[in-house]
Amino acid sequence: MGATLIDGKAIALRVRREVAEATRELKARTGRVPGLAVIRVGEDPASKIYVTGKQKAAAEVGFEASEHHFPETASHAEVQARLEALNADPAVHGILVQLPVPKQVDSAALLRILRPDKDADGLHPVNAGLLAQGRDATVACTPWGVMRMLQEIDCKPAGKRAVVVGRSILVGRPMALLLLNADATVTVCHRKSNLPEEVARGDILVAAVGVPELIKGAWIKPGAVVIDVGINRLPSGKLVGDVEFAAAAERASHITPVPGGVGPMTIAMLLSNTLRNARALLGA
Ligand code: NAD
Repeated sequence: MGATLIDGKAIALRVRREVAEATRELKARTGRVPGLAVIRVGEDPASKIYVTGKQKAAAEVGFEASEHHFPETASHAEVQARLEALNADPAVHGILVQLPVPKQVDSAALLRILRPDKDADGLHPVNAGLLAQGRDATVACTPWGVMRMLQEIDCKPAGKRAVVVGRSILVGRPMALLLLNADATVTVCHRKSNLPEEVARGDILVAAVGVPELIKGAWIKPGAVVIDVGINRLPSGKLVGDVEFAAAAERASHITPVPGGVGPMTIAMLLSNTLRNARALLGA
């Protein structure tokens, strides 16, 4: 393997330490700590694990974390009422609705009601719009974490060709905008794209598709930085990314492993977003 591994766990730990330190400072100055509230509806087992992880990470950095769990049968109105209460609660600075939610609950409507200045996931249309305009915004955690990873390996996007595969609201779109705002020349790929041709151009490749090893190592531009956001479980139970790792690592200069790459960054950036909101809301 020629590429240097990008250690997401180590970078995420650094971010979490920075957030913990800034939380102590905020407390010393204002007597207050960031409050993170997570709304979870139903019994999706993966959501339960994610939310437990977020609560634990928030508590570790000194936040006040609360979970607002509703049964599978909860009505949209019930969940909305809680969200409105959290919007009004001065102890809460970051709110997120863990997806997926049962179908009677309209997650897009909840996102519109959420106060943009308490948006912890950067998914509120106001924050997405600010990002699209190249203005200061709370940014979706995963792509924001990817930017931090690039910074940590001293990869400067300015003037480079960046290829993003996937255009979801959660990852691909905000990723492309962040790279564009950082002066990369950005190509966004989707199902209709000629992937081998486009991927081969990328000095920076970000894969956020959700198809195991869709992107072949042979397509990677020699010397490229490869960031694999995909997390796919094979029938054998093994976790793999969207990139054919071993072959890509022969050509890339840097590559993220799966697991242990982008995954750990997402919660770290959630903490960072909540701290950012708390500072702004507390005028600190
Ligand atoms: P999504 O399903 O919402 O979006 C996938 C995107 O890939 C879509 O825009 C689609 O157009 C594109 N796509 C699908 N098949 C394609 C193909 N054959 N060729 C080209 N493009 C194709 O998924 P998402 O939420 O963006 O997540 C993508 C992956 O990243 C998933 O594996 C998910 O588990 C993972 N993920 C990881 C983290 C993390 O913390 N590391 C966070 C979010 C998502």
